[in-house]
Amino acid sequence: MSQTQAMSLDQIYQLAFDKLTIAGADEYNASILASVLKNAERDGSHSHGLFRLPAYVTGLKSGKIKGDARPDVSEVTSSFIRVDGNGGLAPSAHDVAIPALVKAAKKTGVAIATIHRCFHMAALWPEVEAIAENGLAGIACTNYMPSVAPAGANKAFFGTNPIAFSWPRPNKTPVVYDMATAAMALGDVQVAVRDGKKVPLGTGLDGEGQSTTDPAAIANGGVLLPFGGYKGSGMSMMVELLTAGLSGETFSDETKALDNADGGPPIGGQFLLAMSPEIMAIDDWQSHCDLFFERMSGLPGSGVRLPGERRHKNRLSNSARQINSELLTKIYAL
Ligand code: NDP
Repeated sequence: MSQTQAMSLDQIYQLAFDKLTIAGADEYNASILASVLKNAERDGSHSHGLFRLPAYVTGLKSGKIKGDARPDVSEVTSSFIRVDGNGGLAPSAHDVAIPALVKAAKKTGVAIATIHRCFHMAALWPEVEAIAENGLAGIACTNYMPSVAPAGANKAFFGTNPIAFSWPRPNKTPVVYDMATAAMALGDVQVAVRDGKKVPLGTGLDGEGQSTTDPAAIANGGVLLPFGGYKGSGMSMMVELLTAGLSGETFSDETKALDNADGGPPIGGQFLLAMSPEIMAIDDWQSHCDLFFERMSGLPGSGVRLPGERRHKNRLSNSARQINSELLTKIYAL
């Protein structure tokens, strides 16, 4: 069992903010990313909270990530927004992309935003949840660095390529799912290495192309597999096309050649879609969908829960969060 230390949410935010500003982020960028990392710890998204801070600090210190970047937003058409991250952090690009996307979708019923030239290493639920909190359904995806072998290959080509979806439920928490198209997110494999745990068979292959339950053999010289065999592989390919193909950014395999291998997040693209049930659905979409969720949750079996519920339950607590001591030692030394 790994050792932990208790930290309040304010302390988590301040630690992240201080380390990011020392590494070269200005107040605007540091405060946005520190909130994202704090919110991940608040919700129990441990692989995308403080665990990611050392990588962001490395990327800022090496000069790869521009700590003072300001994204540019272009309304290309009434329903398509293009955001240039200008070499900065993805959460800062979201800060301007999401309000523009929401405004467009509320007018036209459906809108898309693509983001290019930004550095993404976070969970995607903050983006789609923000869309749902504005009464819209949302989809987001992003690509990464080659870490997943397409079905039929034993060499990394796709990123872990997460997809997130949100559905608005006025006066209730939105339904949000957010998942890597890899059998396991790389962050979780790294956490398993740190905690000395095994991973399920089917998570990845070792350096010899053999199935393994050893996360270190996957993370160091091995490769992850897509979830669900060729089905997850197809979805991962879709993410590559929606993010790199559509935004004009690099595909995961192209990204690697450009990266300075500092261990920080790589440059990449992102796809965001917002849809308005108010405009698109026939009357009474809210109670129609509420009844659907009720029937789903009431099914016999071991108990259906709606995706996003775990995080929203964690969020209700204001008490201190337990942070891995080894991670904190690493962060204090940054
Ligand atoms: P999980 O497998 O932990 O969860 C995937 C989704 O399934 C979540 O929405 C979760 O909801 C839901 N879920 C889990 N268990 C159940 C259940 N029993 N019943 C119903 N729903 C359930 O996520 P992953 O490990 O695949 O991904 C982790 C994170 O990594 C994601 O946030 C993703 O965005 C991020 N990531 C980021 C990348 C990047 O490059 N930026 C790359 C790859 C991944 P709940 O949250 O409520 O548990």
